[in-house]
Amino acid sequence: MSSTHKRYRVEGDKVVRLKKECERCGNAVYMAEHKDRQTCGKCGFTQYKRGRKAS
Ligand SMILES: [Zn+2]
Repeated sequence: MSSTHKRYRVEGDKVVRLKKECERCGNAVYMAEHKDRQTCGKCGFTQYKRGRKAS
């Protein structure tokens, strides 16, 4: 009797992607991800990501 039973233990492998909802539209309207900002394709709302502004 040969049964090779391997148990894989997967832990902490959650990939949770949080989509940001437009704060103007709400209603499951999500912001499009950009490098330094997020924009709403519906109302055009732009939210800059937090961080230091290079001036
Ligand atoms: Zn919007």
